[in-house]
Amino acid sequence: SDARVLSAIGKVARHLFFDNALLEHAYQDKAFPIGEGQTISQPYTVAFQSEKLEIKAGDKVLEIGTGSGYQACILLEMGAKVYTIEYNRKLFETARSFLPQLGYSPYFFYGDGSKGLPGKAPFDKILVTAGAPVIPATLTSQLAEGGILVIPVGDRDRQKMVRIRKKGMSLLKEDFENFAFVPLLGE
Ligand code: SAH
Repeated sequence: SDARVLSAIGKVARHLFFDNALLEHAYQDKAFPIGEGQTISQPYTVAFQSEKLEIKAGDKVLEIGTGSGYQACILLEMGAKVYTIEYNRKLFETARSFLPQLGYSPYFFYGDGSKGLPGKAPFDKILVTAGAPVIPATLTSQLAEGGILVIPVGDRDRQKMVRIRKKGMSLLKEDFENFAFVPLLGE
């Protein structure tokens, strides 16, 4: 329902992230394969995570799981400065060459995002777009004061969306509805 999220979603043409043969699926509210056993998240899921992040223009955001790059484009449309990390070499290379052609230029990183990006921390917001078995402490430690982590946490089949807010020494945790993401790999 967040007007700024809906406006960003309205601006990024999702069909550009699809194979020609699959174009008819681009504007359905469904996740879809992007190769390498990975998926472009369902638009509802992208919107839900973007809304829970409370993105403000100028926010420094770390996205874990670049995938197709679609979510990174939404965050850029919302005025964030985006650092995105991908564990699959082929998807990393595809996104790194394709997004700038659309006019979107996040900072691209290749590697295990479960460890965050210690060299670039702290981040105002951290978004995990793969299902995690636990909340990695390395990620909460890379949040700025007042920062927000949005991460799906659970088993392989189902994860609960969790929001962590860093307030001084404490981490405030909120649980939301269930989702089904591909697994977060790495450490
Ligand atoms: N945000 C993506 C959806 C990604 S699907 C989009 O908008 O299309 C999840 C992605 O997370 C996959 O591309 C997968 O390769 C990647 N991934 C899984 N574990 C990872 C890890 N430890 N570090 C970085 N990326 C990871």
